[in-house]
Amino acid sequence: MWRRLTVQRYRTPYTERNAPGLEGALDIEMEVVSDYLHVGSGVYDVEILRPLDDIDKLVESALQGTVPDVSGYFSPATHEMNKYLGKVVIPGSTIKGLVRTRLELSIRESCYVVSRNSNTVSNTYKKIFRNPKPKYSDRFPERVCPVCDLLGNSGLASRVSFTDLVMAQGKTDFVNVNGQYYESAIKGSKFGGKVVYRSLKPVDLGMLLYGLGFRLKGNKLEGKVMLMGRFKFSDRRFGRVRFSLPAAKVEFVNALNEFMKKFNPFDYNEEW
Ligand SMILES: [Zn+2]
Repeated sequence: MWRRLTVQRYRTPYTERNAPGLEGALDIEMEVVSDYLHVGSGVYDVEILRPLDDIDKLVESALQGTVPDVSGYFSPATHEMNKYLGKVVIPGSTIKGLVRTRLELSIRESCYVVSRNSNTVSNTYKKIFRNPKPKYSDRFPERVCPVCDLLGNSGLASRVSFTDLVMAQGKTDFVNVNGQYYESAIKGSKFGGKVVYRSLKPVDLGMLLYGLGFRLKGNKLEGKVMLMGRFKFSDRRFGRVRFSLPAAKVEFVNALNEFMKKFNPFDYNEEW
């Protein structure tokens, strides 16, 4: 899996992008460790439960000044998860976003692109991530922050791509939250996917592993509990996942070690 090759790059800030680097695909697994996980598809359905002629009566009573009770006419909204070829998937962009926010919060030199623009800051979020206020060091193109250098930004290609995670084991249930139904992967469900990377130094690979929640336990890697998806800060039944590597290698341990030494990153306990 470990090969060396030269990848041509248009810009060469921070990291020497033309330098030979590690290229490969990391197999990752993700297990749902809370009761449920809902990552929305943005699609939701409402069924009409009664024939349309009843709608005329509704309109009539509305015109007479009575606010109609429409609850019997429509099913509760159902929010689905993404599907691909009939299987439940978590978009790769969701995984990338998760990695990016964690790295931006953990690395002092980060420019903090994503988290800074977040306008959904809950008290639980604040409690967990107690904002360390990293410096805004991004002055592209003279110098690019280590996170943008790995994951890209608007003017810079990412050296890492995330495939969708496909459900390999488990099932979904529709869970009622405030009268609406959320399709959710249940506890123990497992998803699999790949992280494809190129032109990485070992320390970059270590950063990627750290962003996925891997920590050193002795000379092994262990995934920590991370928050993902809907309701992760508001409903304890939702949103806890843990990544693992089906084919862990000693190189990964060395890479994470190197990253820890170079960046001395912040860590957060996402259990609440
Ligand atoms: Zn950045």
